[in-house]
Amino acid sequence: MHGRRGGSVVHESSCRRAEGSGTELRTEEALDALMRPGVDACHDCDAAIVLIPVLQLGEGHR
Ligand SMILES: [Zn+2]
Repeated sequence: MHGRRGGSVVHESSCRRAEGSGTELRTEEALDALMRPGVDACHDCDAAIVLIPVLQLGEGHR
C-alpha cells in the first residue's frame, strides 16, 4: 500500500498514480488511514478492491 500520512488517497504500491507521493504503508496503516474522514482508496489500482472488503468486515465486528 502506498499513501500519504494525512493524505486523501491510498494506493497499491504498484500503482502508477502513487509514484512521487506519500510513503509505503503497511496494510494496517492503510486501513487506519482509510477510516479517517475524506480518505479514500484508489480505484485505478487494487487498493479499493483489497482494502474496502477488509474495512467492511472490520465494521461488521464492531
Ligand atoms: Zn492507485
